[in-house]
Amino acid sequence: MTPKKKPKKFDEYHQADTIGDLPKDVSEKPKLNEIGETEIPDSLKDPVEYDELKHRLFEKNYFWQKIPEFKNVDEQEFLSTEFQNKNTATKVDHLDELVEGLVSDEFLQDVHEGMRQAPMNLRLSPYIISLIDWDNPIDDPLRVQFIPVASTRRPDHPKLSLDSLAEQDDSPTPGLVHRYFDKVLFLALDVCPVYCRFCTRSYAIGSDTDLVSKLSFKPVPRKWNEAFAYIASRPEVEDVVISGGDSYMLKAHRIRQIGETLLDIPHVRRIRFASKGPSVMPMQIIAGNGWTDALVDVVEHGQKMGKEVALHTHFNHSNEITYITKLAMDKLFSRGVRVRNQSVLIRGVNDTVDDMVNLVRQLAYINVQPYYVYQHDMVKGTEELRTSLAASLELERNVRGTTAGFNTPTFVMDAPGGGGKRDLHSYEYYDEVTGVSVYRSPAVDEEKIYLYYDPIDTLPKEGQLRWKIPREGEKIIKEALENSDYTDLSIA
Ligand SMILES: *Cc1c(COP(=O)(O)O)cnc(C)c1O
Ligand code: SF4
Repeated sequence: MTPKKKPKKFDEYHQADTIGDLPKDVSEKPKLNEIGETEIPDSLKDPVEYDELKHRLFEKNYFWQKIPEFKNVDEQEFLSTEFQNKNTATKVDHLDELVEGLVSDEFLQDVHEGMRQAPMNLRLSPYIISLIDWDNPIDDPLRVQFIPVASTRRPDHPKLSLDSLAEQDDSPTPGLVHRYFDKVLFLALDVCPVYCRFCTRSYAIGSDTDLVSKLSFKPVPRKWNEAFAYIASRPEVEDVVISGGDSYMLKAHRIRQIGETLLDIPHVRRIRFASKGPSVMPMQIIAGNGWTDALVDVVEHGQKMGKEVALHTHFNHSNEITYITKLAMDKLFSRGVRVRNQSVLIRGVNDTVDDMVNLVRQLAYINVQPYYVYQHDMVKGTEELRTSLAASLELERNVRGTTAGFNTPTFVMDAPGGGGKRDLHSYEYYDEVTGVSVYRSPAVDEEKIYLYYDPIDTLPKEGQLRWKIPREGEKIIKEALENSDYTDLSIA
């Protein structure tokens, strides 16, 4: 891409690297006219450190201009969806070109090798590429999410699969999952604005990779009618999640079509559009391409009918959040769109207390309600991204209590084998040595138990050695069943 325009001069609005309402001196006395000269009571708390309020700061420089090809791209251009779509990298060679001179040849080879073993294809927006720290890409939380490298890869746990949630077993028609009593998951399409390495639906999302030929459920608008007809025929369904894939990739008139069709079904009371878009391409919400207007129209129509239409998004790390995100979320908030967030807990991305608390506080600050944090699913090719249950539980203990309860995410596990979401703390049994945890999900199936397996490299030596012995896995599972006292139930 050859830039034509010269970059705009930094105007006053852009002088700072960051925006936020954080005074430089956090010990500054507040000035409130109404209370006049009232003396400030002595505080029982230590003075707050600048760092403790860092969630109020938002990246606000021309951060994309560090990418050689974007050096002359001004704000107006970078904020356009045309630019973002046109410069989205879907081939590793394109990524090579964009980061040439910024990274070592070894790193690029590592990526090429990583791609050969990956279950997901590459797809990166210029926004995400520009936010990665190319001085240290290996440790960067965005690199970890979107770009595989071979050097960090770990052998898969023997129990990993591609459809670990067994969604296909609960699917009355392609693209619809009816697992819970009153809610359904409608997979409207199979493409996303980026591809995440850890995708739960790596069995279907994106195009084939060297490792995986995808199940093609070809979600095309004329097939949606079967899903709508099913939903209309089931009076118990009050709640519809529209996912995929990603709602961001739907044209404005498709958002309206799906929204209006579902709102017209009398028993449907709640609709959620799911999208990673706000995290990877927030400009689409600000830009006037009609997507936001369509969403807002459906929200407003729902309000008139007494029904809730919300946006569920997927931020995993504060580095995804910039002043552009804030502008986008401010716009949605001012237009009455409720936004909630579902994160995936990923090793090396958001598994420290500092990173998770900062994410939760920053989301709350921009009116995005942290709803869930998911234990990483047992998807093939992602062993190094999973955390042990013990580590996740400890993280949860540290997060709860740091901010308002309604902004505190529930840590859940989507129980492998199709048990649905379970509170992480609700396991029936957990052996930290073998890494096996046992869950029940009576509302989904009273007869079954669901097992999760910690990544082998996080286990104590003794546990690691046992998993190396052939056929020991079956013994480990049998032990877990006996110890949990649920030998009369069958494993999903
Ligand atoms: C996650 C999910 C839902 C929605 O569940 P909530 O807990 O209400 O967010 C519905 N159906 C399926 C199959 C799901 O996986
Ligand atoms: S945006 Fe969601 S559906 Fe798409 S690849 Fe990422 S995790 Fe999968």
